[in-house]
Amino acid sequence: MRLTEDQLKRLIRDVPDFPQPGIIFKDITPLLADKATFKGVVEQVCSHWVERPPDVVTAIEARGFIPGGAVALGLGAGFVPIRKPGKLPWKTVSQDYQLEYGTDQLQIHEDAVKPGQTVLIVDDVLATGGTAAAATQLIRKLGGVVLGIHVLIELSFLGGRDRLHGIEVVSELVY
Ligand code: AMP
Repeated sequence: MRLTEDQLKRLIRDVPDFPQPGIIFKDITPLLADKATFKGVVEQVCSHWVERPPDVVTAIEARGFIPGGAVALGLGAGFVPIRKPGKLPWKTVSQDYQLEYGTDQLQIHEDAVKPGQTVLIVDDVLATGGTAAAATQLIRKLGGVVLGIHVLIELSFLGGRDRLHGIEVVSELVY
């Protein structure tokens, strides 16, 4: 049975002004700590892709790693981390992306995705979509095929989906 919106929402904590004033941070740690809901939400994500499983699931540090690893296991896929600069030990490929003020960068190991492999991107929250767009560019630089982006929470008022033209974007909960 699918989890209701209410079951998910009551385990997502709104933290105002974190990490900076004006941001309402969607804290998924209560959801992750609830065994039935964590399992249920991971199964829901997996059920969407089970008929066309990706070769690889990739997630963006740090919170994305938690559902990402679980979804990879559920789909029988490999797992590839995308990280902030300087964190990955081997040779990397980088992608810059715009933040509200300034730019940031994401990196992936240059041999993490083989040309032609299919990749599902998993993250906790889709906000402006800049992070997911940068992850997509990294995978494409390595010759990977992005099957889609699956997030637990979509902040639809920030329009992230509009930055991800032509990519299937799936969310478990929309605000
Ligand atoms: P985006 O603006 O879509 O590039 O989001 C940047 C990253 O920050 C994503 O990986 C999200 O996990 C995280 N993020 C953005 N906004 C929030 C928020 N309101 N609550 C929790 N995480 C957020």
